[in-house]
Amino acid sequence: MAQALLKWVGHALDLLYPRNCRFCTTPLTETQVGVVCPACLATAKPITPPFCRRCALPFSGQLDAQIECGYCQDLEFHFSSAYAACRAEGVVRDCIHRLKYNREIYYLPHLAGWLIDAGRRWIDWAQVDAIVPVPLHPVKERSREFNQAKLLAQELARAVGRPLWPQVIRRVKATPSQTRLDARSRRVNMRGAFAIRSAAALAGRRVVLVDDVFTTGATLDACASILLRSGTTDVIALTVARGV
Ligand SMILES: [Zn+2]
Ligand SMILES: [Zn+2]
Repeated sequence: MAQALLKWVGHALDLLYPRNCRFCTTPLTETQVGVVCPACLATAKPITPPFCRRCALPFSGQLDAQIECGYCQDLEFHFSSAYAACRAEGVVRDCIHRLKYNREIYYLPHLAGWLIDAGRRWIDWAQVDAIVPVPLHPVKERSREFNQAKLLAQELARAVGRPLWPQVIRRVKATPSQTRLDARSRRVNMRGAFAIRSAAALAGRRVVLVDDVFTTGATLDACASILLRSGTTDVIALTVARGV
């Protein structure tokens, strides 16, 4: 009932205030979800093979998709593989920034759409026991009012029909912003940042870890590391975007 009412209010608002694409101002049709037009969404750069099977870093040219890049050989990530929908550029990066830093929640359907497409393409969901979002520190989550990784994981869980475990990892250390740090400093920065709430639930499980962006992989790796130490048998990372 509430849903039907919301939908009706949405339609009424569309009539009063026609929606326009937030990037190119083209009017959006009533049936179009979100705030970005299909033409602008189509400018996203999907990550297609060949890419590193460990960290989703795309390669140019014709290479075996099973290859592992030099970066991964050095860092030895704890997740067995990572997949990312798109390069963290242009419309994708802008949608993420507006959602995260301007709290413009209506970009979520677009980000979730990219994430779900990639998840369906690359992951065998019959082998996955749960979907786990990368947590934010409670103080940060309160000030942002949401955790974008949790919202994305929620949409993914609904789409692929797997359980969502949003509470299993806790962020116990409020890490300073990582944007100015290199890969190694980010790893050091993440030490002791996470804790596990219920290790018993994780024993023998295979999980998909969800975040918005894979930049150096330090945050995802810290989560994967603590999941494995708590008995998880396999962690696959999945993100909307990959910094390249
Ligand atoms: Zn547009
Ligand atoms: Zn790699």
